[in-house]
Amino acid sequence: MLVSFSFDIKHADSNSLARVGTINTPHGPIQTPAFIPVGTKATVKSVLPEAMADLGAQALLSNAYHLYLQPGADILDEAGGLGEFMNWPGPTFTDSGGFQVLSLGVGFKKVLAMDAQTFRRDDVIAGNKDRLAHVDDEGVTFKSHLDGTMHRFTPEVSMQVQHQIGADIMFAFDECTTLHNTRPYQELAMDRTYAWAIRCLDEHKRLTEERTTKPYQALFGVIQGAQYEDLRKKAATDLGSLESSGQSFDGFGIGGALDKGQLGNIVSWVNEILPEDKPRHLLGIGAPEDLFVGVENGCDTFDCVLASRIARTSAVYTMEGRFNLSNSRFKRDFTPIDDECDCYTCTHYTRAYMHHVFRGKEIVSATLATIHNERFIVRLVDQMRQALLDGNFADMKADFLGRYTHRSGQARD
Ligand SMILES: [Zn+2]
Repeated sequence: MLVSFSFDIKHADSNSLARVGTINTPHGPIQTPAFIPVGTKATVKSVLPEAMADLGAQALLSNAYHLYLQPGADILDEAGGLGEFMNWPGPTFTDSGGFQVLSLGVGFKKVLAMDAQTFRRDDVIAGNKDRLAHVDDEGVTFKSHLDGTMHRFTPEVSMQVQHQIGADIMFAFDECTTLHNTRPYQELAMDRTYAWAIRCLDEHKRLTEERTTKPYQALFGVIQGAQYEDLRKKAATDLGSLESSGQSFDGFGIGGALDKGQLGNIVSWVNEILPEDKPRHLLGIGAPEDLFVGVENGCDTFDCVLASRIARTSAVYTMEGRFNLSNSRFKRDFTPIDDECDCYTCTHYTRAYMHHVFRGKEIVSATLATIHNERFIVRLVDQMRQALLDGNFADMKADFLGRYTHRSGQARD
């Protein structure tokens, strides 16, 4: 089979771990660093794929867990794959489902807490009475959040599901822990993730050879280890050099519990070890200040649901920070959301109109605000890429952060 996946580094920053490159996939290239908007269930909520392309999205990321439950991965396979199914001609990613299975098991808020300074107990996973997921060494048994039916994901099942979904870039099935887990549990989960990585590579190899008429799908290993330097470095060393069935990972995801205060450290520990010539994706990170940290510490792609999720609650990003359009101070404000933004919403609508459609609960409010927020984040990372090429990343970062002050967290779904 023709392996039409590659990563070319065009420029490496001399002052940081940042690099500028191109990820080539069977559905086209991705210029990196790049922000990859999330369409969890094969749709970016409220926005057409044409509008996502117009606002500069180079690729979309969907979720294997959600698509497996509904409509079923076999439906996407029959449709010709994720991109064909959702009318998106460009590159696609799928998240493996490990995060979703486990986060639904223990509750999103606990998983997403980006602060390691609070209590630490394993029973947020192991003892919670109404948890929906049970982990063992072979895989995870979970209850569907849709209809209560029982399902089981193993590394092999995750690979089968992701091959049927057919995204250009997939992630290995990992055990995602929280910042609340104890150190011994983090070690156990990391060992499991390593054993599962080998099984993912083997099954991926088998499926790639079986499905020869399908475009090549790249598989990224996922680096766990929470906030512990030795664990993160061990995971990067082990997975970075792992080869099984003659197959190694095509790239890497940095996942799991990311302590916001240590984000730069965690990412640099890992990226100083991972093979330089393979792309690195920072999972679930998309707040403006975090994207700078990710880029300067050597990450190439990012995804996050925040831009669209907060848009639906009337929160928008601007150069001056984040604010809420439903606030009454915008009732007679006939200026754009952000007068420096070139998106469809900002070039056609005012804050007063946005305030009106949010207050009236009009469906178009979600569409227009999502277009703006996704454009804001996509463009911000595009501007970082240009600044790296121009050699003025540090100035660009200082200028942006000098004006933009709101801080917000990690989000996947
Ligand atoms: Zn805009």
